[in-house]
Amino acid sequence: MTVETPKEEFVFQAEISRLLHLLSESLYQNREITIRELVSNASDALDKLRHASLTDSSIEASDLRITLVPNKEDNLLIIRDNGIGMTRDELVKNLGTIAHSGSLEFIQNLQKSRNKDDVSLIGQFGVGFYSSFMLSERVEVRTRSFTEDNGWVWESKGDGAFTIAEPESPLERGTEIRLHLKKDLTEFTDATRLKYILKKYSTFVPHQIFVDEEHINNQPPIWVEPKSSVTEEQYQNFYEYLVHFPGQTPTWHLHLTADSPFQFHSILYCPDANLEKMGFGRTEDGLHLCAKRILVQNNNRDLLPDYLRFLRGIVDSADLPLNVSREALQDNTIFRKMKKVLTKKVLDHLDSLATDEPEVFAKFYKEFGSTLREGVGDDFDNRDRLAKLLRFESTNSSAENGSISLAGYCERAAENQTQIYFATGTDMASVLRDPNLEVFRKRNLEVLILTDPVDEYVLSTLQKFDDKEFVSIDSADLLLPAKADSDDAESEKEDDDKKTETEVPNGFDSVLNIIKEALGDQIEDVRRSERLTESACCLVNSKGAQSTTMQKVLQVNIPDFEMSKMILEVNPNAALIKRLCEIAVNGDNEAFIKTCGQQLHANAMIMAGLAPKGGEMANRVQEFMMELAMQRSSIAT
Ligand code: ADP
Repeated sequence: MTVETPKEEFVFQAEISRLLHLLSESLYQNREITIRELVSNASDALDKLRHASLTDSSIEASDLRITLVPNKEDNLLIIRDNGIGMTRDELVKNLGTIAHSGSLEFIQNLQKSRNKDDVSLIGQFGVGFYSSFMLSERVEVRTRSFTEDNGWVWESKGDGAFTIAEPESPLERGTEIRLHLKKDLTEFTDATRLKYILKKYSTFVPHQIFVDEEHINNQPPIWVEPKSSVTEEQYQNFYEYLVHFPGQTPTWHLHLTADSPFQFHSILYCPDANLEKMGFGRTEDGLHLCAKRILVQNNNRDLLPDYLRFLRGIVDSADLPLNVSREALQDNTIFRKMKKVLTKKVLDHLDSLATDEPEVFAKFYKEFGSTLREGVGDDFDNRDRLAKLLRFESTNSSAENGSISLAGYCERAAENQTQIYFATGTDMASVLRDPNLEVFRKRNLEVLILTDPVDEYVLSTLQKFDDKEFVSIDSADLLLPAKADSDDAESEKEDDDKKTETEVPNGFDSVLNIIKEALGDQIEDVRRSERLTESACCLVNSKGAQSTTMQKVLQVNIPDFEMSKMILEVNPNAALIKRLCEIAVNGDNEAFIKTCGQQLHANAMIMAGLAPKGGEMANRVQEFMMELAMQRSSIAT
């Protein structure tokens, strides 16, 4: 006879009630994932127990296992583990609230889309346990923490409340989830069906799983198998197991084995999408770290550099110490060496992808290029290797979707070109309007186009590639290659252009002086431009200064940041400038030329993405309009 023990009643956190409501309503097809989630929780509980036993020898951690007991008679499925268990407080916290901040977002999205694939994501958001209510009318959790003697019974119908009571007699250590299945879900008491589900989703669980006394996951793990004997399907299944995401295909995988100087097996996967870019925040995921097949850590973030944090996978090494803290592991010599080797292998792999499978590389770079380039600043040892992997947009017509490598750029560079040119701006279209680009277009010199300020930072960190310095096209440091004979010989038109270019109209120097005077200390200098072909003028940064785009970024982020003074370059061949030179002989025109100089400066600022003083400019333009209006006839036609 069982003795009724008093039940204490609790209310679920509001978000859980909402989640449960959604799950019960959803036209959810893929109910199998509940089994996967509960087995995964059981496996975590076994890992935790083993971990605790490493530092406390009084904890008995042998024969860890997960057992599924289907019971047709009572339409009941029991999932049992002899893991760490939960105390009363842990029950209230773990099975009454949602711990992860991303979960709420997930629930909201679920509400919007009602998409079954979204539900299969449930495990990623730390709400896997609650999916049991999709299968069950009632769920009982009978659990005893390894720190306690009796244990507790948690129970809920998934209707907003749960109870906790003491058990009638002491429980075994670990947790037993009892799913009182919905009437139409008898399939989950069918052992054959359960074995099928477990083989599909849980083959790689690092603990023994039994159904009806049969050990169902007894094949060797694929990462210790020779590469040649692992099928694509097995790689795919293992990836799905790691990321809890059925149907997701990694962009590439890398299977590594080494014997010396230390032994390890590893499979690394590159996901097909960058969740960080989708607004999920910095990834918390990492590698599974095993020592002789036994999981030591399941989200290790220290075995790969931060700029490769998107990789998922497993590293299994007999040389890793098992029972040490994370800090001690980081200091471990083998650990540090292993990190170096893994990084090198990943970069090797990316190199060969870029050469042999450029489409796969392009897909990878589109998602993770922005993370990878962080390495240029962070990983001094591999900086040059990373530089080779960078990709950019450029004025080269074949530069689709940022596909230009620095090596490719250098191959196409003009014979005596000593610099790699780049233009910066907020987007491609506005960069292409930059008058500074004119001379590059005319001389057919390729320019990299950077629309993310991080890119300029990366280039300034690199300083050089292939002995060519990076230089912004709006910098006074710009050196254009001397014109080779072949440039001149191209056509007669070129020759003509060249002639006009070298001709400076009379009065040009006095125009420059008048403009210089008009602008005073707003500007560092006013000088003749070698880079403009059509526009009348442009602003360039003085030697050593950062590009305008970079300075604007700094201005936003650093209080009191002062933009460095710029140089106004004037094109002697522009029609307006020529006309100003002609009228400059007449001293009466000086005031007019001054006003023109101020307006030319304002125009150049606008073209460089800077804001001229609005009031002054409006008055000036209005005066010009007045002068033109006065020249018009007021006689009726
Ligand atoms: P997640 O497992 O992602 O944290 P769940 O909702 O599935 O989210 O589980 C919530 C928490 O409940 C777990 O983090 C764990 O602390 C606890 N838990 C679930 N199942 C077990 C179990 N079998 N043994 C011990 N603790 C468990």
